[in-house]
Amino acid sequence: MIIIMKTDATAEQKQAVVDEVQARKFVPNPIYGEHLTVVAVVGPHPGEFKDHFESMPGVDRCVLIDQSYKLVARAGRPSLGFSVGDADPITIGGGALTVIAGPCSVESEDQVMACARLAKACGASMLRGGAYKPRTSPYSFQGMGTDGLKILAAARAETGLKVISEFTDAAQFDDTLECVDMIQIGARNMQNFALLAAAGETGKPVMLKRGLAATIEDLLNAAEYVASRGNERILLCERGIRTFETATRNTLDTAAVPVLRKLTHLPICLDPSHASGVREYIPPMAAACAAIGADAIMLEVHPDPKVALSDGSQALTFPLFRGLMKLLLAQPRWTYGVDISESE
Ligand code: PEP
Ligand code: MN
Repeated sequence: MIIIMKTDATAEQKQAVVDEVQARKFVPNPIYGEHLTVVAVVGPHPGEFKDHFESMPGVDRCVLIDQSYKLVARAGRPSLGFSVGDADPITIGGGALTVIAGPCSVESEDQVMACARLAKACGASMLRGGAYKPRTSPYSFQGMGTDGLKILAAARAETGLKVISEFTDAAQFDDTLECVDMIQIGARNMQNFALLAAAGETGKPVMLKRGLAATIEDLLNAAEYVASRGNERILLCERGIRTFETATRNTLDTAAVPVLRKLTHLPICLDPSHASGVREYIPPMAAACAAIGADAIMLEVHPDPKVALSDGSQALTFPLFRGLMKLLLAQPRWTYGVDISESE
């Protein structure tokens, strides 16, 4: 942390800051400039005292130069990805594109089985489906709960697809955690810190969706909650953020991908379905997600979107999904870390 003194700070005020840094068991490194004095503070977690130093006479502001997240920080670590599933595991991250597909909500066995068979036939490796639905209105369909998770597990048994489903409360982990291979923490719960910690403690891989109004730093700090419980199998998911634009449900922050690549070693999923909310926009957006080098893409698909109990307007039909998958799996993807400065 750097403490920046006011230009008119007195010599006594500067000395008081240096003394206080020492009193807090940090090492002060003051630089006395002609107009400005700054004090570099060296030691573990000086940011915890940011407010304290900023309240001292003569201090202009403090600037943190270290991130608050540590385990998920890039810090020179390669992006190797991680395994998902106990039997015949798949790897997310570190190379190939993983497609996660399925309905927004689990509605019936027939609906999930149809989606699972389609997803498998088209080259997806994970099946999604919400059993606990965090709906904006309490009167909307809230999901099938444990019955829904059992349907997903049955689809896994038949197709071999790995299963991901959202959990909204840590108590839900008790019953049917074995039905899923990955826990989804939804955008609305991104900063439900008790849920994040409990998900970390399960040891299952976690997909953490970016909150509707969360910065990339917020997302990484939320991921750190999971990692700090000894679980670094975390997939970050950019699913669109709230902006002033109303033509789409959310605004997909594709720039989050290169930013996250720089800041973290964790793999990245993009969700063009929730980002756009409109079926016809999803194929070109999915192509952009692949092109920018996502490790995974999440797509909602439904056998008959007009009768879907949630998010029907953004569900791909089966023919659309088939066509999109052919293109997606064949198209080139951006590779990070390759020097292209000499390419022709
Ligand atoms: C979902 O994946 O169905 C979902 C509810 O997503 P989000 O949390 O991104 O809104
Ligand atoms: Mn949905």
